[in-house]
Amino acid sequence: MAKTSVAILGLGIMGGGMAGRLLSQQFPTAVYNRNRAKAEPFAKLGAFVAGSPQEAAARAEVIISMVSDDAASRMVWLGKDGALAGSSRGSVFVESSTVSVGWVKELAKAAAEKGCELLDAPVTGTKPHAASGELFFMVGGSATALAKVREVLAALGREVLHLGPGGSGALVKLINNFVCGVQAASFAEALALVNASGIDREKCLAVLSNSALASPLIKRMLASMAADDFTPNFPLKLMTKDIGYAQREAAAIGSPVSTAAPALEIFKHAVQEGLGDQDFSAVMKSVKHH
Ligand code: NAP
Repeated sequence: MAKTSVAILGLGIMGGGMAGRLLSQQFPTAVYNRNRAKAEPFAKLGAFVAGSPQEAAARAEVIISMVSDDAASRMVWLGKDGALAGSSRGSVFVESSTVSVGWVKELAKAAAEKGCELLDAPVTGTKPHAASGELFFMVGGSATALAKVREVLAALGREVLHLGPGGSGALVKLINNFVCGVQAASFAEALALVNASGIDREKCLAVLSNSALASPLIKRMLASMAADDFTPNFPLKLMTKDIGYAQREAAAIGSPVSTAAPALEIFKHAVQEGLGDQDFSAVMKSVKHH
């Protein structure tokens, strides 16, 4: 049986890896990126390089968006030459970007009016996981829509978890990244404190990197610091966006997350210092001046 045809909108760190993975698994794949230069190399891998989201969507049964934020997502789905205009009745939209719950609910309505269904399916995992099909998908939406895209998500992820109705995936992702952001900000402050205290830094790091606080996230920060390499796997500006979205979502639910505010300040300060395009772990470089 022929494999499902897929469109990938957004070929950044994550979308680029996902498109490469689908092509390596022989899925007929159309790709679109706002800056076309990033899309051209995918032609050699067998992709159809579309000039607009509309053109990409017209060739696909499953349309996946993997772009920065709500504004970018709105642009690729509903903007001029957007994917909605090119999609056929019955196709499934998959929003894998980390976006707000309000936005995915609005987009789900627009999809339904077109006779299509939307799944919010953000991911955990980062650049290498996107490229090797080891993402973890958190899915909100109908079970029937998920059944239609399962083959595609299974090629991209090690786990596809159906969390509930539309918006559930987006919400869980924001809860996850709220905690990641707070953890990263407080660890950055802890390191500044270590440096300012005059205590033996190496011995102190030996403790911190072997205690209960040494989560995979903190270990990544320590590895970036040790290698002095802040090439983005997860850009700092996107972590900043996620903390802000999580804070708003929590307030809307009526269960405010008070630790988000100071973490957000720390990340915004790092963006102001010009670190937004570096890895989120570069927040450590900014705290000492905070
Ligand atoms: P990225 O490398 O910065 O890529 C962003 C993508 O969005 C690019 O394709 C960019 O196009 C596109 N874009 C931005 N603004 C746009 C607009 N107004 N209209 C159309 N396209 C626009 O980001 P990423 O790391 O791949 O992240 C993508 C999404 O996944 C984000 O929501 C992020 O929070 C989430 N995420 C990331 C990670 C990670 O580890 N990186 C992990 C989990 C989830 P151009 O190339 O033209 O700028």
